[in-house]
Amino acid sequence: MNTSRRQALGLLGLGLSAPWFAGCSAREPQPDPFTLGVASGDPTAEGFVIWTRLAPDPLALDGLGGLHSPVEAQWEVALDPGLRQVVQRGTAMALPQTAFSLPVTLAGLAPGRPYWYRFTALGHQSRIGRATTLPPLASAPERLKLVVASCSHYENGFFSAYRHMTEENADLALFLGDYIYDSNFPATTQAVRRHGMPPATDLVGYRRRYALYRTDPDLQRLHAELTCLMTWDDHEVQNDYAGPWPANPHISLADFARQRQAAYQAFREHAPLRAWRTQGSGLRLYDRFNFGQLAQIHLLDGRQYRSEPACATDQTRGGHLVAADCPGRNDAGRSMLGEAQERWLMEGFRSNSTRWNLIAQDVLMAPLRQRLPNGDEGRWTDGWDGYPATRARLLQGVASSRVANPVTLGGDSHSFWVNDLHLDAEDERSPVVATEFIGTSITSNGPNYAEFAKLRPENPQIRFFESRLRGYLALDITRERLQADLRTITDRTRPDAARGTLASFVVEAGRPGAVPA
Ligand code: FE
Ligand code: CA
Repeated sequence: MNTSRRQALGLLGLGLSAPWFAGCSAREPQPDPFTLGVASGDPTAEGFVIWTRLAPDPLALDGLGGLHSPVEAQWEVALDPGLRQVVQRGTAMALPQTAFSLPVTLAGLAPGRPYWYRFTALGHQSRIGRATTLPPLASAPERLKLVVASCSHYENGFFSAYRHMTEENADLALFLGDYIYDSNFPATTQAVRRHGMPPATDLVGYRRRYALYRTDPDLQRLHAELTCLMTWDDHEVQNDYAGPWPANPHISLADFARQRQAAYQAFREHAPLRAWRTQGSGLRLYDRFNFGQLAQIHLLDGRQYRSEPACATDQTRGGHLVAADCPGRNDAGRSMLGEAQERWLMEGFRSNSTRWNLIAQDVLMAPLRQRLPNGDEGRWTDGWDGYPATRARLLQGVASSRVANPVTLGGDSHSFWVNDLHLDAEDERSPVVATEFIGTSITSNGPNYAEFAKLRPENPQIRFFESRLRGYLALDITRERLQADLRTITDRTRPDAARGTLASFVVEAGRPGAVPA
């Protein structure tokens, strides 16, 4: 209950309900509902979605941010940062059933330019956000700058990496998953800061998670200044889930379906997404975004439509090392993306005309030969090594469509990777058809460096690997070349960490494979 209501009820209890009191109460300042900042995303050449969520008490235990009945809000969009030249304005209702989130879809704007926007509600104004439309489809922009993030476990550290992403002067920000983490570290494990709430398993829990993450000042500023594209990985729902299958085989599919739907709803309430993306109990995230004729971003959903994980045990369907020939792993009938998304992706490759093609998704795509405890070759089931048939179809599709300059982007692995993707992914003698870049994590713990570094000799497709540093990818793309800067932060335990560059790689147009810049 907010202060003014508590006071009102207290006074009513004393019998003070005279008319003068009602008038007085209406003028009483209400708490700021814009504690979660603003965001923009889902851009086209004609518009984008602006977002806020009203939450005067962002971590309220009921997940509703301290509000209970509908609130009318105003929004305005202008040509200038001071909002003097407003080009569109309107009102929108914030409703309890969508946690008082306010996604507003704008159309009829000019292509390839910035706009500034602001919300007003409950006697307060939000900060002013900046959003950009995409360039006209037929245009030839000289340059595209992207910043790419994944894996920001709140308990692992401060979001300095997000702050430095904001300062890259990029055109767009890409979030490739594990934007929130559903679970907590054990109390005995060291944490830089704590979630301070139970693990998220229902709508209230997921709403409170997103609210907590969005109270972070570095993440708020990134969203206020950069238009984003968002896909997800597993921790937006639960570690290592796959389609309808929870990693824990002892959780019923029906219980997990309810949990997944709640998680998806909370994701959509906190992401700047168009209304049509809600489809039944699912969320249609995969889509294409054109930066004129310079680049197309094929944003994929690597979680929602997965086939049942191969080689599961009694204990887990989640990520674990299995023999390369374990039953089912190579079945052509299994899919990482689902049949519809695979078909859509191939059609996109065939109809594409842009200079570059960025395939942005959640997990490691290159094969990675690992070792089982008995010394045999092992493969990790939760990444593309768990769905090799889809990878083969994707790489064949890249080659047969001759889609120009494909570069894949991924997250999940909490480490930097620069990899060659071969036409036959398993055969390094076959031609390189695409290049893979994986950013490390914003904060999340990296895997053991020595364990992975010693796999390098039998994995020549890996050009670069580093798991000991946190950071992100900054991409600078022109017609001639794509440069990927592997950015790092000095210390995730400090909110004021500085930025560094671990390495830079270049892909020349027409020549797949990364070379040191
Ligand atoms: Fe992660
Ligand atoms: Ca993950």
